Amino acid sequence: MLSKPLVFLRDDDVWRLDASFKRFFSLALELRIPVVYGVVPGCLTRGAQKFLVERVRRTPELVDLVQHGWRHHNYALPGERKYEFGACRDSAAQRSDLRAGRRKMRACFGPYATDAFVPPYHSFNGDTLDILEDEGFSIFSAERELRPKGRLFLDLPANVALKTLDDGVIMALDAGSMIRRTLHSIAHRKVTGLVLHHNLYVSSQGRRDLEIFLRFLVNARKNGQIQIKLFSELLNMAGSCEK
Ligand SMILES: [Zn+2]
Repeated sequence: MLSKPLVFLRDDDVWRLDASFKRFFSLALELRIPVVYGVVPGCLTRGAQKFLVERVRRTPELVDLVQHGWRHHNYALPGERKYEFGACRDSAAQRSDLRAGRRKMRACFGPYATDAFVPPYHSFNGDTLDILEDEGFSIFSAERELRPKGRLFLDLPANVALKTLDDGVIMALDAGSMIRRTLHSIAHRKVTGLVLHHNLYVSSQGRRDLEIFLRFLVNARKNGQIQIKLFSELLNMAGSCEK
């Protein structure tokens, strides 16, 4: 029998306890949807740290905390694609920021930090990947699969962006579009990576769309169409396949 398509849901830009984050976190918890939170370690507030530690202790099966860059700084010049890692940042500067972020994740979350790196703006270069390998990171997640394959870490691309650009402004997708993109991906891939930004769902319509979409995921799981997994679970699954 073919195994069910695997899905992960990544929520990026987690660093403070604002209303949109608390709302998203509570809803995902209530619906028992596991979520990979991309934490910006260099900006993490004390309040957000305490909140996450408390919650992950209670429900570790529903929360992965992963490193989303260092400070989410944009070093790009006007007109360039945004990046914190890559392009004009030399290898030593990248390594220093990667290490600082990892140290902070470990200091803040101890055993609850999942050893994964999610580059801000999906941007990186060959140096970034070499350093991640060298430092022994377990998981990497940008937008697309890495080519060539064969890196020492597990590559888990978040191929479905649940947002769009409208006249240069980043907007959340409506529920129908989020569902369509997800269905299209699960029909074609073994692992579908969904990435959203809780801070885009602030209007009442946006909040409704997000809830409809999360309930769609719950139903798809209930109907046996998908399995929703954390990075840490996918890493264990990949490890057991190799044996
Ligand atoms: Zn980000």
